[in-house]
Amino acid sequence: ENKFEIFKVRIDNLTMTQAINSVVNTAKDKQPNIFEGLRSTPNQCQQFCFVNTDCLNTAYKDDPYRQTLAQANKVFADGSGIRLASKLLGFTVKDNVNGTDMLPLLCQKAAKQQLPLFLLGAKPGVAQQAANKLVAAHPGLEIAGTQDGYFDEAKIDEVITTINQSGAKILLVAMGAPVQDNWIAKYQHRLQVPVAMGVGGLFDFYAE
Ligand code: UDP
Repeated sequence: ENKFEIFKVRIDNLTMTQAINSVVNTAKDKQPNIFEGLRSTPNQCQQFCFVNTDCLNTAYKDDPYRQTLAQANKVFADGSGIRLASKLLGFTVKDNVNGTDMLPLLCQKAAKQQLPLFLLGAKPGVAQQAANKLVAAHPGLEIAGTQDGYFDEAKIDEVITTINQSGAKILLVAMGAPVQDNWIAKYQHRLQVPVAMGVGGLFDFYAE
């Protein structure tokens, strides 16, 4: 199946390659649109989510988060727990599509296709450190900007403007689930980046 439902959450059953291609193709955002001139609003930022078994647990009890996942453009099956739970329900997960494995592969493609990343989240300095490591590992990769995940609510307009003016095509938000995913859903209509993804504690991992 290309999609299935597990504990009230729809999963898009993709291989890692298919998942990365969907991120990259959305980020390229180049599909000609005959209605372009008629539209009053620009293309909406698409939201992609990683869902592990902890996330499923949270979503089961937490309506706003479940709603976020329901309206997300893609929901990836993250981790072996999801594979096991799905198997018990009669579904075969095609791949373990997690952020840790995806990021280096995504950076490789982003570097080649000139798709700048914006890193939002984690403690002050961590996103920049992760950015430096990623650029060193993937020559040609462009990091359009970084911002820690502990800014004041009053700074939200400034942060969104910075992201929108950065030229980023892919926004990674590392504030932990479900905060990051609900954050993207809340500000999606104001974000002009073609893709935004919640990536949990990924910047901490890559900054080390
Ligand atoms: N974080 C943040 N802002 C907050 C709370 C957390 O940027 O208000 C960051 C935190 O510094 C860490 C990440 O979010 O980098 C959460 O990582 P965790 O491992 O808890 O997330 P998970 O991978 O379990 O979703």
